[in-house]
Amino acid sequence: MAEGSWTPRTQLGKKVAAGEIKSMSDAIRSKLPLKEYEIVDMLLPTIKDEVLYIERAQRMTDSGRRMTYSITAVVGNGDGFVGVGKGKAKEAAPAIRKAVNAAKLNIIEIKRGCGSWECGCGRAHTLPFKVHGSSGSVRVTLKPSPRGVGRAVGDIAKVILEMAGIDDAWGFAKGHTKTTVNYALATFNALKQTSEIKLNPAIQLSTPIYVGGVLNAGSNQN
Ligand SMILES: [Zn+2]
Repeated sequence: MAEGSWTPRTQLGKKVAAGEIKSMSDAIRSKLPLKEYEIVDMLLPTIKDEVLYIERAQRMTDSGRRMTYSITAVVGNGDGFVGVGKGKAKEAAPAIRKAVNAAKLNIIEIKRGCGSWECGCGRAHTLPFKVHGSSGSVRVTLKPSPRGVGRAVGDIAKVILEMAGIDDAWGFAKGHTKTTVNYALATFNALKQTSEIKLNPAIQLSTPIYVGGVLNAGSNQN
């Protein structure tokens, strides 16, 4: 995005442009609707995107065959923020752009941790606990793993975990995982579960938990 080319139209956009909201975490916690992808570009300047799946469909029109492109894309900063989105257009390039922008508007702040007693390294390299997600017939389970395991998941989930900044995980999938869109969304929904589960500050966790890219102050750092 070129500097200065964005004129914010929403309340959140105006607060971000004015410097009142300075981080993606604060933007998400503000509960203001995220409707401008430029907000994500501004608050997460290192964000990357990748196309997960391209579906081409032919349709008949009066003038002959026409293609429609449906794209599923993932965005992430590799450090606790990730989004998945879909876009559709008559040509590939605008469909990709729509999918990437939709993924930015779906961005979530995940929780990460060391996750296992055996590892004990205390870094944010895996999931903090076991999570599930589903989409269509696909059900994905992601589990914390010790350091060095890598992303022991399917190819699509691998890309999403990398974008989210999860280096190690065990994953299982059931259902029609060949339906790539559902597999991607189920994986994303599993990661979303890390953000939805509230940490109880009264509970002493066995390992520290990171929220987005930041060590959670409420967790036990020992
Ligand atoms: Zn560890």
